[in-house]
Amino acid sequence: MKRMLVLVFGMVFATAALAAEPPPRLVLQITVDQLRGDLMTRYLDRMGEGGIRYLLDNGIVYLDAHHAHANTETIVGHATLATGAHPAAHGMIGNVWFDHDLGRLVYNVEDGDFPILSADAGVDKDQEIDPTQRAAGTDGRSPRAILTSTFSDELAISQGPDAKVFGVSVKDRGAISMAGHAGKAFWFSKAAGEFITSSYYYDEYPDWVTAWNARKLPFAYADTNWELLHDRASYRNGDRDDLAYETSLPGFGNVFPHPYGAADGKYFTTFLTISPAGDALTVDFAKALIDAEGLGQDDVTDYLSVSLSSTDYVGHLFGPSSLETEDQLLQLDRAIADLLGFVDDRVGLDRTLIVLSADHGAAEAPGYMEELGIPARYLNPDDWDKEPGIARLQAEFGIGGPLISEYFHPYIYLDNEAIAAAGLDQETVERAVAGEIVRLPGVALAISSTALARGAYPDMPIIRSVLNNYSPSRSGDVFVVFEPHSFINDFDGLTVTSHHGSPWAYDTYVPLIFAGYGLEPRRVARRVETVDLAPTLSAILELKPPSGAAGVPLKEVLTHSNP
Ligand SMILES: [Zn+2]
Repeated sequence: MKRMLVLVFGMVFATAALAAEPPPRLVLQITVDQLRGDLMTRYLDRMGEGGIRYLLDNGIVYLDAHHAHANTETIVGHATLATGAHPAAHGMIGNVWFDHDLGRLVYNVEDGDFPILSADAGVDKDQEIDPTQRAAGTDGRSPRAILTSTFSDELAISQGPDAKVFGVSVKDRGAISMAGHAGKAFWFSKAAGEFITSSYYYDEYPDWVTAWNARKLPFAYADTNWELLHDRASYRNGDRDDLAYETSLPGFGNVFPHPYGAADGKYFTTFLTISPAGDALTVDFAKALIDAEGLGQDDVTDYLSVSLSSTDYVGHLFGPSSLETEDQLLQLDRAIADLLGFVDDRVGLDRTLIVLSADHGAAEAPGYMEELGIPARYLNPDDWDKEPGIARLQAEFGIGGPLISEYFHPYIYLDNEAIAAAGLDQETVERAVAGEIVRLPGVALAISSTALARGAYPDMPIIRSVLNNYSPSRSGDVFVVFEPHSFINDFDGLTVTSHHGSPWAYDTYVPLIFAGYGLEPRRVARRVETVDLAPTLSAILELKPPSGAAGVPLKEVLTHSNP
């Protein structure tokens, strides 16, 4: 009886103590662009203290976290992490989609109503190597095309207009998505070498941003190199630097040291982003933001998202198993340690809820796979023999013009008006087109959107991931899935080594770690989805889930604050 009472009272006290736990002063969301789940730990033996090792040793670590949508691209993953919704609901179905009203391709966060605040800081199409950015019809940017609320929005809704909510990234879409509709976003202009924002957020720059840009920190890298952090002999890939399949940008090359070149070089700022310098600059800017805006200084919870883009650019150009990526990951660890150390000093990690994940993984370079005897290849739609298929479709449906009006992977957009004008059934045409596409080399699946939406396909994971990606007003009419380890690598003349964007596991598999705020370390093997992240943050803070949330709060994290 006595033992029983002790047990009962013990539970009451434990519950009371936990219920009285104050909310975190800061939610720090770190997103590493293109950090596949296995890459965080592959080189852990040479990582230091306070960064990735701190998170792994002290956090709740999910060992099998996946995106559940098929088009594993940057805005799609970021918006999913931000909203807990599938792209079908949040609307970010691709970095680029065809806008039927405008009659052209659009870039996810473009918005002509909200110009950027700096002159000559928009996308320089000569200099821009990101093919999705080149699709933008305007330099204006806003989150208005994101159709559901983000966790950061829910935090702002509960706290009112004084909420401090910020998103920072080299990439506009990496910052804007996470800051949500209510927060403020800053991103890096390669054209200006400065962090910028748009009139959606501010009428003029806060003084601290002007002051940070006036320091001209990016230009301190002029005439220096991206050097290996450690002695070359200590790297697993130390003697595998000069590989024929790596992209060698003129001036930057494909071997260490990689020169950044002169400050007035056309690609100087681009080279910074394809190296650890991009992450170091982002963290430096985030630290200035934390101090200037006083994040985490009172009992009202603030939010800061830091999306680190360099791992993505490095992975694209050299591949995820290159020496460049190995060094990038070791330096990413230092950037995260720098950020966490600063937050510990200013706020305290025990009062900061940290979550780290990634917007997508990556495919291995086919050249590397060939070395291992594993089938992999680049695809080039220009090489496809399309004429026989087009002839068969024209014979079947009697449409003179091209049935396909646009192909921006993964979606094929049909000429819906011509189909309707000819009195043809949309689904019948989509299925016929899909039937032709799937005959092409390297294509695993071609899925009719109309058939998918009415439930005509079997309920299996890959089909569900395409359905999770389907937004009626934005998605194309046929979704194309390539065979595993097969992908397009040539984008308007820029040839990359590696890519992502498939529904296969190497693209969906990402890290997911919650740490700080007194969380007890734990490793969780069960499969979870990235849509669970935002609802988990909402549940810890006792907020309502974001409006389109499809995930569930993760119980291993929740037992901490809601016994
Ligand atoms: Zn990305």
